[in-house]
Amino acid sequence: MSARVVVAGAGVMGVAAARSLAARGHRVTLCDPGPLPHPLAASTDISKVVRIEYGDDQGYMALGERSLDGWHRWNRDLFAGDPLFHETGVLFVRRSAMAPGGFEHDSHAALLARGHRPERLNTAALTARFPAWRTGRYVDGFFHARGGFVESGLVVERLLAHAATEGVALVPDASFARVVDGGVALASGEVLPADRVVLALGAWTPFALPSLATSLRATGHPVFHLRTRADALRLPCFWLRPDCTVLPAFGDFTGGALVTPGPRDTLVLTDGMRLHRLPPGRRGAATAAA
Ligand SMILES: Cc1cc2nc3c(=O)[nH]c(=O)nc-3n(C[C@H](O)[C@H](O)[C@H](O)COP(=O)(O)OP(=O)(O)OC[C@H]3O[C@@H](n4cnc5c(N)ncnc54)[C@H](O)[C@@H]3O)c2cc1C
Repeated sequence: MSARVVVAGAGVMGVAAARSLAARGHRVTLCDPGPLPHPLAASTDISKVVRIEYGDDQGYMALGERSLDGWHRWNRDLFAGDPLFHETGVLFVRRSAMAPGGFEHDSHAALLARGHRPERLNTAALTARFPAWRTGRYVDGFFHARGGFVESGLVVERLLAHAATEGVALVPDASFARVVDGGVALASGEVLPADRVVLALGAWTPFALPSLATSLRATGHPVFHLRTRADALRLPCFWLRPDCTVLPAFGDFTGGALVTPGPRDTLVLTDGMRLHRLPPGRRGAATAAA
């Protein structure tokens, strides 16, 4: 039976849900406080890594496998001629040997258990295969050809365009306030009629639903976009976790680089294709140089 559904939040989760509901015959309204796509949504930005490695969590890996299939399907069906998922492979490296209980070791073991074929890499292999990383710094790791990155902001933009042509009513500048009889009350006081409501508010969830604030906490981290020279090898996204794991979706990309705080409260900048950690005192200079 067709229902009137309001989906609040037009990040990738909200727009994917809206399209899926519309495809099932429901009358869908998608609202968001920002312009669409919202530049502050976690889903937008330049790029996001797509990976299936989540330590020993094989259930999550199984979801990741379905997600990879989904990205290929979207490349074929929605982004034909201009794919937004780039399967460059994903590289995990360590400064010490992988060991049971560690993220890389357990991810590698889970990949093998589920029939994947990651390539284990030692220092020599890393140096030969990935000369951009500082020679000798990383001694162990693996490369998995399945995975890569998506041009995330463009993905949301294209999904929204598809949603509009598929009958989803897009309502920007509309902030969910609360569920009321017969629909959703917006912050403006307007009521959007609805039989069903889907909240896809991402990090804003505990603000819209304060009762969840004790169990959900929004966190954030700074992102720096570095524009490379036009003639330089373009950098995809980088993610350095505090324990020095590097997850590059390595390839030739026409965007920028995503840089997050590196180990021990330092910044990671790209200099050509070498990585440097800068002490906190040099952050300003580093940002300016970037
Ligand atoms: C810096 C950063 C890097 C990341 N890197 C990766 C990565 O490499 N790989 C990966 O898989 N994941 C990554 N993630 C996580 C991933 O981006 C998120 O899990 C995903 O985008 C969440 O999508 P979402 O639709 O749930 O939330 P969002 O994209 O945040 O969308 C929520 C939407 O809700 C809207 N909203 C807020 N309040 C209201 C309201 N009251 N009414 C209506 N709408 C409202 C917002 O405007 C927003 O558009 C990263 C996240 C961040 C922040």
